[in-house]
Order: sequence, then structure tokens, then C-alpha cells
Amino acid sequence: MGLECKACGAPLPKRAATCPACGAAVPKKMNLLRLAAFMLIMILVIQSYMSKPDPDAVGPAPAAETPEQ
Ligand SMILES: [Zn+2]
Repeated sequence: MGLECKACGAPLPKRAATCPACGAAVPKKMNLLRLAAFMLIMILVIQSYMSKPDPDAVGPAPAAETPEQ
């Protein structure tokens, strides 16, 4: 159905870790892509956490308490 051995071209069962025809190892591209996406999301989350707890580092004070007139 979609999977076939890159070494010999034989069709592979879904859960095959190795080709039943020639014994070549079946690469797991999907898992690598998912892992990369997961790592990217984790990095973004960690970065947002790292930048949040920093109340003292507020740059120029906003002029919020200025009386209008
Ligand atoms: Zn094969």
C-alpha cells in the first residue's frame, strides 16, 4: 500500500522493521519528522517561559499614571 523496500522494491508490511524479502532495514522517516516538529515546539515553549519571569527588566516606564489635563 505505500511502503516498499528501497533496496529491492518489495512491498513491506506496515510494522516491518526490516524487509522480509532482502532483510534491509526500513528507515523511519515519519518518526524523525515528528520528532523534529516536537523538538521545535518544545524549544519555542521553553523560550517563551524563559522570557516571561522577568518583571524587573521592564524597559522605559510607561506613562500610565499621568493625570490628564
Ligand atoms: Zn528489500
